[in-house]
Amino acid sequence: MENKDTIVYELYGKTYINLTNSCTNECEFCIRDIKDDVGGKNMKLKYDNIIGEDVINALVENKDSLKDEIVYCGFGEPTLRLSALIKSAKFIKENYKDKKIRLNTNGHGNLVYKTDIVPQLAQYIDSVSISLNAQDEETYNKISKPKIKDAYKGMLDFVKKCKENNIETTLTIVTHFKDYKIDVQKCKEIADSLGVKFREREYLNNGY
Ligand code: SF4
Repeated sequence: MENKDTIVYELYGKTYINLTNSCTNECEFCIRDIKDDVGGKNMKLKYDNIIGEDVINALVENKDSLKDEIVYCGFGEPTLRLSALIKSAKFIKENYKDKKIRLNTNGHGNLVYKTDIVPQLAQYIDSVSISLNAQDEETYNKISKPKIKDAYKGMLDFVKKCKENNIETTLTIVTHFKDYKIDVQKCKEIADSLGVKFREREYLNNGY
């Protein structure tokens, strides 16, 4: 059956891939709670069980308008659809050789699968943005409300694994959201201590 959900979409000169609406966090600032669309495209999936072929079909359908960077992001955690992610990323690298691939993730993948998935990702993913979200576990648990145990520690371990596997790695935070006290300096120090990049994004009311 052909999947008519929004899987591939474009925003700010990049191509994005919406793999799932599921996530192991329930972040206070999550865009999914504010709106259903991005740039007019409905991101709520009717069929939230996307497989590699669905993504490949959507990429082929959009092949003439694909941008230089293809980002796995969307309204959920992409690594929860790991086999679709790996299969489609392999397809991109084999068929659109000039494209760079980025993964935006909450960094829970190794906790979810109880194994190190980073070497698999490193075969195809050029860069990864991981949501640090907070300077310590207590603040993280308040703002991101993880549904799995030891999520903050697991996320930091995931960052180390990405760095070890030579994926260009950036830790991100969202600031100015309600009265949450995010210590930007401490967050930056965490990124520095792990030898990865750091990016601060101010919360926007429309979510992006
Ligand atoms: S990690 Fe991303 S998708 Fe998941 S709840 Fe947080 S903001 Fe939403």
